[in-house]
Amino acid sequence: MKISLFGASGFIGSNLALKLSEDGKHDVHLCDVEDKKLRLRFENASFKYEKVDISTDKDRVDEIVRTSDLVFDLAAYVHPAMFISNPLDVVKLNFFDCLNVIQSCVRHNTRLIHFSTSEVYGKTGGSSEPFKEDQTDLILGPIQNQRWIYSCAKQLLDRMIYAYGVEHGLNYTLIRPFNFVGPLMDRFAKKWDREDNPRVFANFMSSLVYNRPLQLVDGGMNRRCFTYIDDAVSAMEAIVDHPDEMNRQIVNVGNPANESSIADFAKLMSDLYVRNFDSSAAPVIQSVASNDFYGKGYEDCDRRLPDISKLRSIGWEPKYGLEETVLRSMQYFVQNKTRLVELLGD
Ligand code: NAD
Ligand code: UDP
Repeated sequence: MKISLFGASGFIGSNLALKLSEDGKHDVHLCDVEDKKLRLRFENASFKYEKVDISTDKDRVDEIVRTSDLVFDLAAYVHPAMFISNPLDVVKLNFFDCLNVIQSCVRHNTRLIHFSTSEVYGKTGGSSEPFKEDQTDLILGPIQNQRWIYSCAKQLLDRMIYAYGVEHGLNYTLIRPFNFVGPLMDRFAKKWDREDNPRVFANFMSSLVYNRPLQLVDGGMNRRCFTYIDDAVSAMEAIVDHPDEMNRQIVNVGNPANESSIADFAKLMSDLYVRNFDSSAAPVIQSVASNDFYGKGYEDCDRRLPDISKLRSIGWEPKYGLEETVLRSMQYFVQNKTRLVELLGD
């Protein structure tokens, strides 16, 4: 099968690309605006990369989609800091440019696996129920809280993909990832920069390595379910291998057993770092107001707990507990620091 990935050199893309290529079953075509994480992930193995910008290379995107059996759309701006600093760019890429990829899939009747986000669920509204793909209400804050622009753009695209399924027979699966962590998640950040801040695991990892305080936004009381990337990739493989069961489905990918408040997560990362990597480190954890950390317009998702019964119905189960997830991810960052900084900067 010919599988093409747009956004292939990101965190998820590079890990998924390696796995899909490893077993030699598929012809895997990797498209992105650059290939640094692919080079890091594949090390000395070869891979088929093409520089494709989905915003500008529309004819080429259409041709790649036409000649593929399956397309993964992973291209997006994903950092919450950017939802506040560059909201219009977020909508342009995550909605309009991705819509173009999806319309090519409709035109050429190509199977699509599109990356939505668990952020579309928004806030819990006080409910403690896990998020269910086809039942849970999507609750976002007011317009001036710009954080929700990412969720809103992604939600509208989800609704259009659904409608293309109903009206034009598009064969698709929508993935809702719940806080994946692992090798090649974002990058090291030597200094904290409000407009270019990595997601929480990479930011805390950077704080530990560069000996700066771990910052808990508004006290770190909000909760996430951290999912190891290998579990996420095995979920993708299961979805690829179950085209009929997963067709026209929205699917949560996450590990509900790995729920943690951000404050507990900071403590866990600090303890594991001192115990396993640098016994002389003395991490400092401090609270910071969200307005200072992200700027005005930030509002948080209070809790994100996935219902994963759809994936369980095709035999998938997450394997990595929270401590192992964090430890394995940290190990990769520590062992590969020089090369990561050399290629991705800090
Ligand atoms: P990432 O930022 O690591 O990867 C995104 C990739 O898209 C990058 O390699 C980037 O170069 C590429 N890209 C950006 N603009 C492009 C363009 N114009 N043309 C082609 N490629 C372009 O993000 P990720 O964590 O790998 O996320 C992948 C997808 O999964 C995104 O759609 C994201 O919204 C979704 N998602 C991820 C998570 C998670 O836990 N990582 C959570 C929720 C949703
Ligand atoms: N967060 C934090 N400190 C940081 C980075 C993030 O306390 O250095 C918090 C953030 O406010 C949110 C959670 O950690 O509550 C997860 O943030 P992330 O950027 O990873 O993405 P999200 O899950 O919100 O999409």
